[in-house]
Amino acid sequence: MKIVFATGNSHKLQEIKEIAGKTDIEFILPPENFNPVENGKTFEENSLIKAQEAARISGQISLADDSGLCVEVLDGAPGIYSARYDKTPQKRIDKLLNVLKNEKNRKAKFVCAMTLVDKDGKILFQTRGECFGQIAEKQSGANGFGYDPIFLTKDTDYKQTMAEMTEKEKNEISHRSRALRKVLEYLNDLNNSSNKF
Ligand code: IMP
Repeated sequence: MKIVFATGNSHKLQEIKEIAGKTDIEFILPPENFNPVENGKTFEENSLIKAQEAARISGQISLADDSGLCVEVLDGAPGIYSARYDKTPQKRIDKLLNVLKNEKNRKAKFVCAMTLVDKDGKILFQTRGECFGQIAEKQSGANGFGYDPIFLTKDTDYKQTMAEMTEKEKNEISHRSRALRKVLEYLNDLNNSSNKF
């Protein structure tokens, strides 16, 4: 089964393929004119907008994600605006560390909403994966992307930032892999029930 993964980011597609591992699903990029207007108010709304746009221009079943970092003491900010919090990834990290200077409550979570739509844009399945942790006092590690260097995961007892983990270690616990595993379970069930008759 071919599924369009609604992103313009080939790195993200690679990550999805690695998380999915061996499966009969082939994830492919949307056509080049994929340019959704992400004006939703939640991760779920934005992932639906992206999935529906991919289905509209490809005519195929499409999956999209929308993700970001939510900081408890900032009422969930930067949240859906994570990619737009400042001009560059390094500036976004510096800004957040500065905003949280002297702040004791550093609780945060990565969130990833995923929406799967059919070729007509109708929702088949929607889910969310979360990864809990804390914002570090200073950045550390060179792997991953985005806010990884300042995110200490609960899964490692706050001893490692996500940027200090290998790709494989991150993929075991990340918000994106937690959401994708639920989508894959849904697709497997769908496949098994349609093979019964
Ligand atoms: P989007 O889902 O492509 O819109 O990405 C939202 C933004 O959230 C990214 O540009 C990153 O700044 C941040 N983000 C999402 N997932 C991760 C992650 O796994 N690590 C670090 N930053 C992330």
